[in-house]
Parts: sequence; structure tokens; C-alpha cells
Amino acid sequence: MPLLSSSRVRSMSYAIREVVEHARVIERQGHEVIRLNIGDPVVFGFPTPKHVSDAFIKAIREGRSNYTDSEGIPELREAVAHTERRKGVDVSPDDVIATTGVTEGLEMVLAATLDESSEILVPGPAYPAYIEYAKLFGARPVAYRTVEQEGWRPDLDDLRKKVGPSTKSIVVCSPNNPTGAVYSRRDLTEIMDIAGENKIFVMTDEIYDRITYGEEAAGPAALNADVPAVIFNGLSKVYSSPGWRVGYVVFRDPEGIIADIKEGVLKQARARLCANTVAQYGLLAALEGPQDQIPKMCKRLERRRDLAVDMINDIDGLSVVRPSGSFYMFPRIDPALGIDDKQFVLDVLQNCHVLLVHGTGFHETYGKDHFRLVFLAPEETLREAISRIGRFVSGLA
Ligand code: PLP
Repeated sequence: MPLLSSSRVRSMSYAIREVVEHARVIERQGHEVIRLNIGDPVVFGFPTPKHVSDAFIKAIREGRSNYTDSEGIPELREAVAHTERRKGVDVSPDDVIATTGVTEGLEMVLAATLDESSEILVPGPAYPAYIEYAKLFGARPVAYRTVEQEGWRPDLDDLRKKVGPSTKSIVVCSPNNPTGAVYSRRDLTEIMDIAGENKIFVMTDEIYDRITYGEEAAGPAALNADVPAVIFNGLSKVYSSPGWRVGYVVFRDPEGIIADIKEGVLKQARARLCANTVAQYGLLAALEGPQDQIPKMCKRLERRRDLAVDMINDIDGLSVVRPSGSFYMFPRIDPALGIDDKQFVLDVLQNCHVLLVHGTGFHETYGKDHFRLVFLAPEETLREAISRIGRFVSGLA
């Protein structure tokens, strides 16, 4: 008799990587697939900055193969606190925990926050990890609407309505994955106010904080010092090093309202020993070293964004909001085309050899009739991929 997995993991899903299984089938048939499904800057010509890789290599050569403190190396915790203070968030190194990427931070904070009866508010559509980890811990993720016609800004009335007695936290992700929205200071301030009025805290995923195409992205924690906030960030995107698996969590909580949750995260951090040691030195170098590669990266990405947006909006049956940050866009498939988003993605893969992610992978309701496209690829690749999609869509009409 085969042994079954736990019921806890049975319904777990992560569409961004699950679609790869379908792409592999096409690739095994000898076709090249243009993969626009994963937000990995390295594979699209944005290598890790040299000073960051040099720091990794130096740490290896210096024999830094030891475990570190579970919270991370003191120099990194100091540099993170300094970085956050520069952004207007008053924290000390004691508030910082180094993690195996934002993902581990999310997992540990959600595990420390949520009981079986708990609810957590996530954006709709959302980066799937918030939803999947919340469910893994038996809690209920509740999506607040974000409004496509208003540049995917959060619907604050909807958010307000959905805060209930079981709500523990509001998740904010700006710049957003999958929509590319950068939330205004006004909206972020109001989200902090809603959290404060309801005596809950805000979890703010800032992994795309410096990838913007206009105004800089504000973080909610800097806009209201009275409401507790947990900030997530790391090396993966802005510093092009997703494979090093390092990031951090910061607790901004001067009154100790979420001190017990922080202790719950520390317990888990001790149980998993520490984050990758040499990668922590890499992250330290990234935070302390030159930053001029970031605006250069954004300039290149902006051209790719504009090309992709303009081409998609020229296709009858598709439309897309121009993203203000991150490297994702979330085009809408006109329901009149008579194809649901999952089938659309499978058919585009089969017919065009282009890999996208279906919108319902980001939320059943709020992602419906959409797909996510990663616009990290060079212009000629995007041009080719979107032309093929355009030909496919015209065949549907
Ligand atoms: N948060 C968001 C919003 C993301 O888009 C991603 C990766 O795509 C992550 C977190 C994962 O971050 P990390 O590589 O630091 O685990």
C-alpha cells in the first residue's frame, strides 16, 4: 500500500513552477520554449553585481563555512537596521533576523502568527506563497480586492470590510507581484491606519522595493510608527542573486505588541540553525557596496516594460495596465475570446512555445481571466514571444 502525504500538503500549489512541467514536455519534443514564467533576473542578463559575488567568494576563501548565530551575523543585522533607518523605519540590529530568502521569513512569521482559526488578509491577486503557507498552517487567507482599472491599487473599502475578529495581519506587497502596482503613500497610510484601528499588524514584502519606473516605492512602516510592522527583504531581485537564498525579516515594534510572535520566529530560527553563512556576507556587501547598478537595471527594464505593454495593448482581446514597479505585468484576456486563463496559458505554450502563468494561480477570483508575464527578457525575445501570442489570439477571434 502506498503511503499518502499529509492532508496538509495535498492541496498545496505554486503555479509559477508547476507550469514548468508542461514546458518540459514541449522541450522534450525538441522545441525551444521562451520561458516568461519565473522572476529570475540572472537568467535574463542581469548577473549578480561583481562586488556581491566577490564577497561570497572571499567569505568562502576565508573559510567562513561555520554556522552563524540563528539571527544572522552581527555585521549584517547592523547593515539591515541601518538600511531600514535610512528608509525612515526606526529599528535596531536586535530587530533583524537573517533568513533563507524572504520565503523562509514568510513561512516563519506566518507559522508564528496563525492558528487554525486565524485569518490573514492578502492582496487579490497575490504572490502564491502567502496563500499557500497560510493554508499549510491551517489558517484562512482572505484576499482583499485590488482594482485593475485604478492601476491595481488596493480597494480599501473591501479591505476594511474583510478585517474580522480572526484577522491577525494584513499582507502588503509593493511593488507588487503579479501586477507591478506601486501603492501610493496615501493607500499605504490608510492600510496602516486600518491595522492600527483593529490592533493587528502589517506584513510588508519589499523584495522589489528599488525596482520602480517613476516614483520611488514607499514602505508602510515608515508612514506610521505606531502600528507594528514586519518587513521582508533580501538579495534575490534588486541584487540579482535569487539562488543564494538569503534575506531578512525586521520587526518594527517599539511597544512590544508582537514580541511573542517575534519570539516564535526566533524559536523556529534556532530550530533551523542559521541562514547560509557565505550568502549573509554577500548580502552585507550588497547593502554596503555601490548601488549604481540598480538605476541602470531599472532603465533597461523600463524599455522592456514599455515594449511589452505597447505590444500587448495592440492585440485585440488583450489589455494590460503599465506596471510601475517589479518586473511583472498581469494582462487581461477578454472573456469574449471564450477561453479561460489556464487553457490560454496551456494553448500559448503548445502553439507559441511561450511559457506564461495563468492568473488563477495567483487567486481563483481576482486572478481569473489574466496571465502573468515576466518582462525581464531582452527586447528581441519579448518581441518574438508577444508577436507569437498576438498571432495565437487573432486565431481565436
Ligand atoms: N516575495 C515576492 C513578492 C516574490 O515575488 C518572491 C519571488 O518571486 C519572493 C518573495 C521570494 O523571495 P526569496 O527569493 O527571497 O525567497
